[in-house]
Amino acid sequence: MNRDPALNVLATQADKSLKVEKLSELPAFSRVLTDGSAGALLKLPAAVEKHVCAIETGVKRAIILYDAEKVALVRPFISHLRGKLIAEKFTFERPEIGCGGGVIEHLIENSRTKTDNTDGEEDPALAQSKAKEIFESWVALAVQERATDIHVQVVNNIAEVKLRVDGELEFLRDQQGGVYTPLQAERAVAWAYNNASGKGSNSNSQFSVGENLYCMIAAREVGGKRVAMRYQSIRGWAGIKVVCRLLYVDIDAPTLSYEQLGYALSHMKQLKSASNTPSGTIIFAGVTGSGKTTTLKTFIETHPGNGTDAFYSIEDPVEYPLRGVHQIPIQRDLLDRKGSAAKYAEVVAGLMRADPGCVLMGEIRDPATAISAQQIVETGHMACGTVHAHLISGIVPRLTNEEIGMSRDVLTNPNILTLLVYQALVPKLCPHCKIGGRLYQQGMSDAEHVFELLDTLENRFQLERDLFYFKKQGGCPHCKHRGTAGLSVVAEILTPDRKWLNLIRQGKDYEAMMYYRSKSDGNFRSENMDGKTVFEHTLYKALLGEVDPRHCERFDSFDRFEIMNDADRAETACYT
Ligand SMILES: [Zn+2]
Ligand SMILES: [Zn+2]
Repeated sequence: MNRDPALNVLATQADKSLKVEKLSELPAFSRVLTDGSAGALLKLPAAVEKHVCAIETGVKRAIILYDAEKVALVRPFISHLRGKLIAEKFTFERPEIGCGGGVIEHLIENSRTKTDNTDGEEDPALAQSKAKEIFESWVALAVQERATDIHVQVVNNIAEVKLRVDGELEFLRDQQGGVYTPLQAERAVAWAYNNASGKGSNSNSQFSVGENLYCMIAAREVGGKRVAMRYQSIRGWAGIKVVCRLLYVDIDAPTLSYEQLGYALSHMKQLKSASNTPSGTIIFAGVTGSGKTTTLKTFIETHPGNGTDAFYSIEDPVEYPLRGVHQIPIQRDLLDRKGSAAKYAEVVAGLMRADPGCVLMGEIRDPATAISAQQIVETGHMACGTVHAHLISGIVPRLTNEEIGMSRDVLTNPNILTLLVYQALVPKLCPHCKIGGRLYQQGMSDAEHVFELLDTLENRFQLERDLFYFKKQGGCPHCKHRGTAGLSVVAEILTPDRKWLNLIRQGKDYEAMMYYRSKSDGNFRSENMDGKTVFEHTLYKALLGEVDPRHCERFDSFDRFEIMNDADRAETACYT
C-alpha cells in the first residue's frame, strides 16, 4: 500500500503543529520501543509511559510521539528519549509528533497485548472468545454500514480492517479506527474460518497463515438482517489478507425491481422481452462485485415462468436463496479441471431429463460450461450465465477465446444468444452535499481534472456545466462524511438481431457495435437507452444529478468517446 498521502498529511500537520487523533493516522512502524515490557529497548517512568513514546519506523530509524495535552509533563522526557535513541545510533525521520488523548495509551496497550501473547501463557479459551468478539464486532459494524466487503490486511506490522462502502474502501469506524495488532487480527480471521464456516465448504480443515483459504460462512442474524459471508484468505509476504464478501440473504426480503436497482425503463423492456423468449442464452457480464448476481435474482424471481416452470441453478457454492429455483450446489476443484468439468456435465445431463424451464448456470468460464449452455439451448431451453467481461463488446471475444473456446459460428446461430447485459455499480451522490459544476472551485480535490472535464462536456458534448454535480470530499453528516449514498446500476443491453449476428460471425466486432449504437436517439438527456452504452447511461445519470460524471471515465474517456452524427448512422446502414 502506498502510504505517501498519509505521510504528506502528517508533514503538513507537523507544520501547523496539528496532532494525530487516531492510531491509523500514524506512519507505518514495526514496534514500540518503550512499551514497558521486559524486551523494550528503553524504559520510561510509569507516570509518563502513556504520554510519550518512541516507535521504530525502519532500520535504526525512529519517531517520538507525545501526548499533546500533556506537553509540560512530557517535555523533559522527549529530550531524554532523543538522547537515548541517538546513543543507540537511531536517526529521526521527522520531528516529534503530537498525539490526541488516548492515542499513545492505545498504542502501548496494543504493543503489550502482542508481547504478552507471544509468551504463550494466555488461556486459550479466553483467546478464542476474544477473537470471536473482535470478528463479530467487525461484522456487526459492516452490516450497520451496509458494507459489501470486509478487508483485513497486515501491513508493516499493524493489521488494518477496512470496509467497502458505496464501492470504496475505508477504515472500519470503531474505537481503534480499524487498526489492530497482527495477532489480534490473525486470531479473529482464524476463529471465523475454524468456527463459523458452513459445513463442507472449506477448502482446508484448519486455518493456516501460509495458505489461500476459501469458505462460506453460513447465514445468521446480524443486526436484524440475514447475512452469509464468502471468505477468502490470500497469503502474502507481509502477512495475511482476508476478504469477506457480505451476502444479504434474507429469503423473505421483497425482490428488488429493475427500477430500484437502477435500470432504465428501456432496459427493463428488453429484460422482460427476453424472459418471454422460450429458449436461448442470456448473458450477464460484469466484473466481480458489479451486482450481476442481484440482477440475476431479480430476473429469475420476476420471470413469468417462475412458479409454473421448473427453474434450476448450478452454483459453486450456493450464495443467495432464489425464490422458485431448485438450487444445486456443486464444488469444483481448481486443481482438477477435468474432474470438475465431468461433475458439471453430469449435473447438466441430469437436468436435461428434468424438464428445465430455465437453468442458471453460473459463470461460463471453460469449455465444459460453454458446451452445457449450448446443449441447454439447442434442446429448446433457457440458459442464464455470467461472463467475466468488460462491456458488451467484450462478451463475444471472451466466449471465443482459448479458455472457453466457443466458435463464432455456433454463437451466432439464430436463437442462441437472446440478450447481452453488461452492468457495473456506481456510487450515488449524497443529495445534501453534492457540489454543482458552477460552484466547483480551485483548491477543491481534483479541481484541475474537474475543470477540464467540464470544458470537454461543454465543448464536445454541448452539455453545460450547471447540469453536473460532483462528490464533496469529506461529505456531510447525512452521508456520514462519505459524499455518497448507496450504489446504482449502470448498464448497456443488447438484443442481438440478424444483422448484428451477421457482423459478429465475420469478426466485424467494431462494425457490430456501431450498428448497435446507430439505434440510439443520439440525445444524452433522453431516458431511452436503446443503442446506448454504459458510458451514456452513466452520463445520463450524471445529468440527473444522481452520480458524479467522473464515473463515466471507467467506461470510456470524454476525449475519445465517439459521438455519432447522422453521417455515422447512415454509414452503419451500409454494413453487411
Ligand atoms: Zn447534509
Ligand atoms: Zn452528504
